[in-house]
Amino acid sequence: MKVVRIAALALIGFSFATANAQTTNDYVPGEIIVKLKSKTATLNAQAFVGKVVAEKGMTLKGSWTGLRMHHLALKAGESVERAIIELQQDPDVEFAEPNYYVHQQSAGQEGEVISMDAARDQAYANSLSSSSSYSSQTSAPIQVAQAWSAESTNSSLIPVVAVVDTGIDYNHSVFVNSGAVWTNTREIAANGLDDDGNGYIDDVRGWNFVANNNTPLDDDGHGTHVSGIVLGTTQDITATPIAAAKIRIMPLKFLDSNGSGTTSDAVKAIYYAVNNGANVINNSWGGGGFSNSLLNAINYAYDHKVAFVAAAGNASNNNDASPTYPANYTVPNVMSVAATTDMDGFASFSNYGAQTVHVGSPGSSIWSTFPNNTWGRSSGTSMAAPFVSGMAAIMLRESPSMTGYQVKNLIFAQGNSISSLQNKTTTRNRINVLSALNSAKTAVVATSQPYYDVSAARAPASDSTQSESVPACGMVAKAIYDAKDGNGPQGPHRILAFLTLLLVLVSPIVLNVVLRNREGGKARRKHTRYQIDSAVTLKFGDRELTGQVSSISMGGVQVNTDAWLENGGIVKMSIQSPDGKEEIKVEGRVVWSEERKAYGVAFNNADSSIRSQIQGWTKSLLGT
Ligand code: CA
Repeated sequence: MKVVRIAALALIGFSFATANAQTTNDYVPGEIIVKLKSKTATLNAQAFVGKVVAEKGMTLKGSWTGLRMHHLALKAGESVERAIIELQQDPDVEFAEPNYYVHQQSAGQEGEVISMDAARDQAYANSLSSSSSYSSQTSAPIQVAQAWSAESTNSSLIPVVAVVDTGIDYNHSVFVNSGAVWTNTREIAANGLDDDGNGYIDDVRGWNFVANNNTPLDDDGHGTHVSGIVLGTTQDITATPIAAAKIRIMPLKFLDSNGSGTTSDAVKAIYYAVNNGANVINNSWGGGGFSNSLLNAINYAYDHKVAFVAAAGNASNNNDASPTYPANYTVPNVMSVAATTDMDGFASFSNYGAQTVHVGSPGSSIWSTFPNNTWGRSSGTSMAAPFVSGMAAIMLRESPSMTGYQVKNLIFAQGNSISSLQNKTTTRNRINVLSALNSAKTAVVATSQPYYDVSAARAPASDSTQSESVPACGMVAKAIYDAKDGNGPQGPHRILAFLTLLLVLVSPIVLNVVLRNREGGKARRKHTRYQIDSAVTLKFGDRELTGQVSSISMGGVQVNTDAWLENGGIVKMSIQSPDGKEEIKVEGRVVWSEERKAYGVAFNNADSSIRSQIQGWTKSLLGT
């Protein structure tokens, strides 16, 4: 069997290596993301997590109930490749994949960073002379990407743009004085509680998914620059005094001080944005292979009518031939944005794609905020995307019932056709904010949007690049296809075809072993589990919560509660008997979770008296 395992692992390793030349093995060691099939009942989802925790020594790092996805850490020393090949054999698993790394999409900061006062001086100079340093921001093409003077017919409505990035310096005077940073009004600051029950404690202004705290401050500069552009689309951010913001920016930090992050944190950030009221999500980052997890998170945003704006990338790359994610996901709310220059040329660094990149937007030498009350210029599709995000938000202010999908279509239709985008984008247009804004004011709101089949989208047979980046199954399909090619497999494909055939030949043996292990696992379940319906009071730190116990065994309980319990946390429970006449007091540890819904709690100290009580409660019940 050792030989079989080695062959199988070699194939998977190869599939990652060929997924994308620039992202070889670019994923977090020892972590995976798993999605369960839709037909899997909630109890089975919990049983699944309990199983991989108990039998494979995995640790649950997080669950996204609405996505049916779980983020798991593997047992020390366990390989990602082996875990994926095993889990993909599990009938409950829709997919299992690595936790990819992703990166910001800025081509870099240019020139010196200057102070707030100097920025004001430059803005003032600009009002006197077009030759000042700020003047390129007011070139005709950039002006049409901004809508400073547009009067709003819905002045009380303030749309929210989630900036999923390196964080924001929310102490920058531009954001403080305009009041542009989003506030979670359902959360009470610094009381140590998750007041709104969204799973995050004291998240009054977004979240830092890197440090897992409520301080999404920017330690890089990228997110602050992007945020200034979002706000700058809707008003003059150098004005003194600055006007009150017409939109809000929700800071969601998932890129670290080097501008790098993970798919799991991107999924968390997108999930948070959607669940906490963002209308638009700005994504000035990319990288990694095709990720089913990310695709599902974007589809979740689409289902909730949220617009998703993505930078096309800065590698002068043709995204039709070599996809850049998340810009290349085909979910209908995605806008893939290329960068144009201040004179409507195509920015030399920008990715393009006549089939896959949608619009152009100014992204060359863009002036915006940097941390610590400074200002500076940056170039990149990172700078182009936030113009589109700010524009989508200001359109939603005019017509708040529009879906992100309708906003996208208006943006695409209302741009200006420019020659440099003719073979580079699907619309051939550079955005025009005023025009799109006017169309939003008069648009007939479409409440429906096309159905998007996320399962069908994840590995289209016709897209060899996408199927290459899907581990195992997609890889096999691709290799067989190559082997059938009239010219015969060449070079790496020849090796691939050989390994694939080897896998196809040995897979019944592997499957057999996996299935036997599964049977063994079932037989090894320590305790019979009984369905009951009992009230429970939980003490979790200082908090006292109530819930229902829906199943019990000698080893633990499943507790259903809307409250948020930290995985691994210690809970003191008072469990009522089903008839309400008795009570068991027992301490346990949270071993798995479906956030704000259900938790598995393993007993720490179930002594013989507790065990006999459980026996009494369940003796007439049929266990599983
Ligand atoms: Ca909260």
